Amino acid sequence: MSARLFQTDVLFLQRILAVSGFYNGPFNGKWTSNVDGAEEQFLARYEQIKGEAGAFDSRTESCIMSLIPAAQVKAREFMNVINGRPLTCRIISGTRTYDEQDALFAKRPKVTKARGGQSNHNFGIAWDVGIFENGKYYAGDTKKEDKAYVELGAFIKANVPELEWGGDWRSFVDKPHYQLTKGKSVAQVRALLEKGKAYVAGRRRCPPSVRAEFLPVPALVTHVITSLPLSGVTIPRVVEGLSQGLFVRVMVEAGEHSHAQIRRARQSTL
Ligand SMILES: [Zn+2]
Repeated sequence: MSARLFQTDVLFLQRILAVSGFYNGPFNGKWTSNVDGAEEQFLARYEQIKGEAGAFDSRTESCIMSLIPAAQVKAREFMNVINGRPLTCRIISGTRTYDEQDALFAKRPKVTKARGGQSNHNFGIAWDVGIFENGKYYAGDTKKEDKAYVELGAFIKANVPELEWGGDWRSFVDKPHYQLTKGKSVAQVRALLEKGKAYVAGRRRCPPSVRAEFLPVPALVTHVITSLPLSGVTIPRVVEGLSQGLFVRVMVEAGEHSHAQIRRARQSTL
């Protein structure tokens, strides 16, 4: 029995599982059945989100799998939003352990200013993308390639809320980089990760037109939610699972539907 995620660093795995809400054992770097069970739940959650939001190419998938669930949801939203754009875009980098970050820091020419524990890639909330044209990778060192990353950044900023783009940074502009907006410093997030405390709120603020409800659901969550028979409801979305899938928060664009209408529709499907 061994880890499937972050195989070289069980301590890091324990922390990521803890901040994802699946592990509450000690942080000692030891592989136990408790860690195994938590990883199992983490991977089940990954499969669930994939089922809800759609699957992508294998490299993108392995990167998404390394993110904490809130970032997985956001990364899939990102990938869905860019679907249909002329150039292919893949996620080519996700979470790195501190050791992996240190190895990257040592690379020359310099590719990062962050050592282990100083990068958002160490917290499960950041990813880098690669743009490809007919299979050719855009390294970003020609004007045309650079422009493609800039245009993508602008498009994402206009279409995906709650994401920070590395192209907006001042000290180390990083155009392929995206991360969850978290409202905390790197040092704060690092301290929380190392204590196994969540730093990305599971709850997200809803725009006024959106109604959020908590409801218990049986196993076939996606099916139930997507079959809500409400005319005019735009894409009811399962946005997060709580307590190992016993509850989901459903966001329904309220529009002209009353609470009672939504409840009736729900009861008829549950
Ligand atoms: Zn990055």
